[in-house]
Amino acid sequence: MEHDKIKELLPLAAIDKLDPDQARIVAEHLASGCRECRQELEVLKEAAALIAMPKGEESEAKRRSEESLSDQSAPQTSTADAAPKPAARAPGAVWPWRVATGAALAVAVLMGLMLQSGTAQLRQMRRIQRAQVAMLEGQALELSRKLNAAQAEIAELSRVLDERMRLEGVLMAPDARIVRLEPVGPAKAARATVVISHKVGKAVIDAAGLPQPPPGKTYQLWWITKQRGPVPAGTFTPAPQGETVAPAEMPPGKERMLAAAVTLEPTPGMPKPTGEMYLKGSLAEAR
Ligand SMILES: [Zn+2]
Repeated sequence: MEHDKIKELLPLAAIDKLDPDQARIVAEHLASGCRECRQELEVLKEAAALIAMPKGEESEAKRRSEESLSDQSAPQTSTADAAPKPAARAPGAVWPWRVATGAALAVAVLMGLMLQSGTAQLRQMRRIQRAQVAMLEGQALELSRKLNAAQAEIAELSRVLDERMRLEGVLMAPDARIVRLEPVGPAKAARATVVISHKVGKAVIDAAGLPQPPPGKTYQLWWITKQRGPVPAGTFTPAPQGETVAPAEMPPGKERMLAAAVTLEPTPGMPKPTGEMYLKGSLAEAR
């Protein structure tokens, strides 16, 4: 007999109300090693012990119940003084209906317990599912955080590479002019290289050793010309460590260049220098 059918017999087994055939089938099923049925039967037996009825009452109830159930199941053979005969059970029927009313009550209570334990199991499963979902959500969140960080890193690398390429393009230009800027201010380790190519039409500054600017401040590059003095050439914020490569404005074409300089200015840069100078280099020969 299959496990599900056996399970339906367990409440009766718990109160020893199975007929010998059923008792044997259940015993065989348990002997076959079904842990679920064994555990369920143990729980049901404990519950049965708690709701155990006095012996006398039970057998009286059983006798009365057998009479009435026999009457119902075989009304055509029932007479006032006929001895109650066990009704033939339909093949496949699971429930032995010859159960005393007291026992039937116990079975009903045990069935209730089974259902309750089923509900408790369901609740437990839902709790586990919710915990698993929460865990998966946490993992998804962590993954998406890592993905965002990786994307930010890629964006930063591609920005650096882009600047590198721009610098390389200028550096490789046949007319590239390279001007070294030396520290003149508080940052003694600061240095920079400015590269200008009129052919490529671009200029870049490659700086290192500059301290991070305070909030609201930025470094600004200047072309210092003979005619107009300092001309803004672009602002840049140094990377926390290593070099910073930033694009710069081309020097004004027709003016005589004297120098390039870097000062610290209020963001987003000034039309004329107002802050401390950090770097300076002579540009007299660069065009
Ligand atoms: Zn089983």
